[in-house]
Amino acid sequence: MTEERSSNFLEEIIEEDLSNNRNDGRVLTRFPPEPNGYLHIGHAKSICLNFGIAQKYNGKTNLRFDDTNPTTEETEYVNSIRADIHWLGFEWDKELYSSDYFDTLYGLAVALIKKGLAYVDDSSAEEIALAKGTPTEPGIPTPFRARSVEDNLLLFENMKAGKYPDGAKVLRAKIDLESPNMHLRDPLMYRIKHAHHHRTGDKWCIYPMYDFAHGQSDSIENITHSICTLEFVPHRPLYEWFIEKLDIFPSRQYEFARLNMNFTVMSKRKLLQLVNEKYVTGWDDPRMPTISGLRRRGYTPASIRNFCERIGVAKRENLIDLSLLEFCIREDLNKTALRRMAVMDPVKLVITNYPEGKAEIMQGENNPEAEDGGGSRDIPFGPELWIEREDFMEEAPKKFFRLGPGLMVRLKNAYIVKCDDFMKDDNGRITEIRCSYIPESKSGSDTSGIHVKGTIHWVSARHAKTAEIRLYDRLFRVENPSSEEGDFKEYINPDSLTVIKNAFIEPDLGNAQPGLGYQFIRKGYFSVDNDSTPEALVFNRTVTLKDAWAKEVKKS
Ligand code: ATP
Ligand code: MG
Repeated sequence: MTEERSSNFLEEIIEEDLSNNRNDGRVLTRFPPEPNGYLHIGHAKSICLNFGIAQKYNGKTNLRFDDTNPTTEETEYVNSIRADIHWLGFEWDKELYSSDYFDTLYGLAVALIKKGLAYVDDSSAEEIALAKGTPTEPGIPTPFRARSVEDNLLLFENMKAGKYPDGAKVLRAKIDLESPNMHLRDPLMYRIKHAHHHRTGDKWCIYPMYDFAHGQSDSIENITHSICTLEFVPHRPLYEWFIEKLDIFPSRQYEFARLNMNFTVMSKRKLLQLVNEKYVTGWDDPRMPTISGLRRRGYTPASIRNFCERIGVAKRENLIDLSLLEFCIREDLNKTALRRMAVMDPVKLVITNYPEGKAEIMQGENNPEAEDGGGSRDIPFGPELWIEREDFMEEAPKKFFRLGPGLMVRLKNAYIVKCDDFMKDDNGRITEIRCSYIPESKSGSDTSGIHVKGTIHWVSARHAKTAEIRLYDRLFRVENPSSEEGDFKEYINPDSLTVIKNAFIEPDLGNAQPGLGYQFIRKGYFSVDNDSTPEALVFNRTVTLKDAWAKEVKKS
């Protein structure tokens, strides 16, 4: 057994089970996505939890596609789910499908009918809902509750054989119409749906309901700890009732609080709307809270796992701050990202005393946070540079340690320059900044004795490559769009994407690798977008260097 202390209540439960040798010390969890959309950061929490617990206690985790709803499920989703789990760094034991159990589940349903514990009900959905009563009023039996076992067996077989249209009949468990728990008031087990299934094709026209399929699938697989989210707490007595009455493997269900994050939505149904109605470019749009969106944005698997670890396992619903996720990716990229220079809003800087025909290659550390600076790269330098427009002010205030008439600044990894003059167009827009450089001030061999407070980034105009840079902000402008009045889409942030068409980047970035993080000095962390080609480079801003919203969050 592990020496480490348990870090959450689920681990305490498992350690208790292990000390009692429950299930002979075996731990088998499962991650059970419904393949009706792409996975999001909430699923990542569940994945880290299920796989993490199994790893910690020498157990295993099954990947089970909960594909009992034929109309919403697609193979595309199955493939994306597989890819996302692998990318997060987890390996499942068995890959399984609830639909593989359709025959077994049918057999279990028949067994319950034979025990007089399930019946076919011809009532409509409205009639059933009405007869169920309310939490304060007991339900009443429909006329079909008294059917004989023989009748039920025949009718259920006919349901399976396709003799009835959708909705004509359902199979219900016969439990307790007066239970204070509405889930025990003869819940539905099967419904008729003449629909094509992505795996079983047209074999079935009856499909098991979640409550009947999920728990039974757990038992069929001998899952020891079935971890789900809090909304299933009232389903637990039903989960246990089926296991008891069917006398099958006693999997146990445990619940934790689902992850909610501010400034986004997390239900697949809502995310699908954003995709279908083209508010975003797809499931992997870098603004989406999906795993594929985060990956495309430049998030690393380690940063997401770390985030899931930090938020812990709660028993009560809460809203996690998006800035915590951003903190985790910043922390990771600060350690690993290659430092490069990119100018997004360029203005020309000309060094008037730079000898004609001279060219130099400067050296820049790849990463000052890494041991030995992560090696260095070549940065070509010349008399004409691009610098950031905001790094120059015509009338600079006292503490402006960048460029302005008469001011000095260091060009990162290069020389100190002094602004002698500048030019403007008819609209008063600066078109050129004219400087002289101090030849003795070269970085690494500076003998000038001059100290300047500011350092700015630059790109040599002759060597620069151009790139499109996409800057992202929160997808929603309110903390909790789902809880606002009206349609959640009214609260989309209209400025969630800013595209910079012609940024100048240092030539080395022409070789930027997808999947690697880059820090554009003073600008943030960036990664190569899927749309990028060697001829038309495209970068995504993963996250800013600092949390620009920190103050706002504190205010609210
Ligand atoms: P959604 O409401 O987003 O559609 P879901 O619960 O219907 O999610 P499933 O595919 O059924 O999605 O989820 C697979 C697993 O992931 C389940 O065990 C579910 O409890 C868990 N899960 C889903 N959303 C979250 C979340 N926000 N936080 C933690 N776990 C989640
Ligand atoms: Mg679900």
